[in-house]
Amino acid sequence: MLEIKPIAEPPAPEDYLLVFIGSDVVVSMQRPPEQIWLRHQAEEAFGELEAGEPLGYWLGQPCYALEISLDHLNALEHISGGLLTLFGRVSDAVFATYGRALQMLSWRRDHRFCGRCGGFTQPSDAGKALACAACGLSSYPRLNPCVIVAVGRGDELLLAEAAGRASGFHSTLAGFIEPGETAEEAVRREVYEEVGLSVTNVRYFHSQPWPFPSQLMLGFFADYAGGEIVVDPEEIAHAAWYRRGETPRVPPPASIAGQLITQFYASV
Ligand SMILES: [Zn+2]
Repeated sequence: MLEIKPIAEPPAPEDYLLVFIGSDVVVSMQRPPEQIWLRHQAEEAFGELEAGEPLGYWLGQPCYALEISLDHLNALEHISGGLLTLFGRVSDAVFATYGRALQMLSWRRDHRFCGRCGGFTQPSDAGKALACAACGLSSYPRLNPCVIVAVGRGDELLLAEAAGRASGFHSTLAGFIEPGETAEEAVRREVYEEVGLSVTNVRYFHSQPWPFPSQLMLGFFADYAGGEIVVDPEEIAHAAWYRRGETPRVPPPASIAGQLITQFYASV
């Protein structure tokens, strides 16, 4: 996995480089996407490149993210596509590294000016922040914590299909944590808002970065405590209780939703 710490040495040909055009990942057709570019390989493909945005150390080597322009791309040799196209096709560690890269690049792009006074910002705090030269305001990459919860009732699991998006998936419920709220309170509020149920015994599972654009998904289990399913049609198209082996299509095992579902059925 990526070791997140400041890079001490100057850029070198053996550095790892994650290459993007806008928010699309650029990979080589010659190598599996699992294999991250080395700087010298990327320069052979795209010409001389800037140092890029430091991410940390990948396999003990400095690792950077870099955005190139579309005219660098050779359609016969390179493929570009949204980060989601790599999900489940590369290891969790590679996916997380691409996710960090995308978030760091977009943070840099979106915080060139101070949000308070409009002055220029520049890297500070060993590259972890962007600080305003005029007023001193520092900006750190923003993460948006979300809860995602598997609600159980005996051996049945609550699964819901989101409204508006024709994903074809039934999944666990999820939502953003509001300012001033604990994650456990967000679980109880989201479940009540989306399907009208009360839950109890809220317990933490694990977390997953979800860089679309900058969520951190905090996974929970909870037990049904009362109420009948009444969906909020703005959020949910359909929700119901499902036993193991009777579920509709659910998210893949690489996602925390898929892991919550698998873990729930394994435990009942
Ligand atoms: Zn400022």
